[in-house]
Amino acid sequence: MANSKYEYVRNFEQPDVLLPNTWIVVRIDGRGFHKLTAKYSFEKPNDRRALDLMNAAAAGVMKELPDLVMGYGISDEFSFIFHKDCTLFERRASKLTTTIVSTFTSHYVFMWPTYFPSVLLTPPLPSFDGRAVLYPSVTNLRDYMSWRQVDCHINNLYNTTFWALVQQGGLDAKAAEKELTGTLSSHKNEILFSRFKINYNNEPEMFKKGSVLFRDFEISSSAETTAPNPTSAPVPSDSATSPDIAPPAPLSKTAAEKDRKRRLKARIAIEHIDIIRDEFWDQRPWILS
Ligand code: ATP
Ligand code: ATP
Ligand code: MG
Ligand code: MG
Ligand code: MG
Ligand code: MG
Repeated sequence: MANSKYEYVRNFEQPDVLLPNTWIVVRIDGRGFHKLTAKYSFEKPNDRRALDLMNAAAAGVMKELPDLVMGYGISDEFSFIFHKDCTLFERRASKLTTTIVSTFTSHYVFMWPTYFPSVLLTPPLPSFDGRAVLYPSVTNLRDYMSWRQVDCHINNLYNTTFWALVQQGGLDAKAAEKELTGTLSSHKNEILFSRFKINYNNEPEMFKKGSVLFRDFEISSSAETTAPNPTSAPVPSDSATSPDIAPPAPLSKTAAEKDRKRRLKARIAIEHIDIIRDEFWDQRPWILS
């Protein structure tokens, strides 16, 4: 590579390598979607087309980045999880975050006509911001996921009640907001049921639980009925004394490539289920293994 007297400016770049052996969550969020949803007349409180489009864009991201083990989406946001052993882009935060943000945005805009066939997209076009956050333990990571899913539930119960008061109750936004100030979940459930005959439990799972994306190895590869651990090699014997600090056993080059191909090939499952309780994780041990 050519050397020039300008080369020194390279040194102004600051390293942003993320701590090893920690789970990386990249969360992206739509910029100004309050305005965007009004511009394109999204159905309130939940426009199913828009959620399906978010999920399709997220599935596109998961397909292109086999290092991702999971995604979780609500409203205009998506969280993507890189395995703690991930070495993509030497774990540089800006490379990981910007790649996710731009890949997601490209898919979102590209697939817009599929989900909004009669709605022409015009500038300002949809855009997303993003950040990378590290979680050192599976407990922290699962608490993060639980935090997002609880947020989904709280927001959806509020929005469902708010829009019922506005759309069916004839209240204006200010009056509906006032009516809901300081109410508990049980009050909102009661308002929905007694005034609008809406049983919140019967609302669509996608609205109540958000969308969980993961690689479905068991269904996509029928030969592997026991779903072998896709990422870890045999544990080295010396790790028995200090399992928490032992470095991950590196995969051989061919094993790593085989694993990558397997991940690339796997179907991306999109489900709307509880990820707070153990059941989801117990039934899919390969996701965090
Ligand atoms: P910011 O740029 O700070 O994120 P924002 O306007 O995007 O600003 P958010 O807090 O991210 O603010 O809120 C997203 C908004 O988009 C909310 O008003 C939410 O109700 C709306 N929204 C997102 N997805 C949908 C959807 N599928 N259907 C209807 N409304 C949606
Ligand atoms: P990375 O993901 O690491 O950036 P890369 O393949 O994008 O990998 P770059 O160093 O960014 O690697 O190089 C960009 C490549 O695209 C070069 O091979 C360059 O010649 C080619 N390229 C970019 N713009 C054009 C263009 N307008 N016409 C022809 N080739 C181009
Ligand atoms: Mg934001
Ligand atoms: Mg937003
Ligand atoms: Mg948001
Ligand atoms: Mg390049």
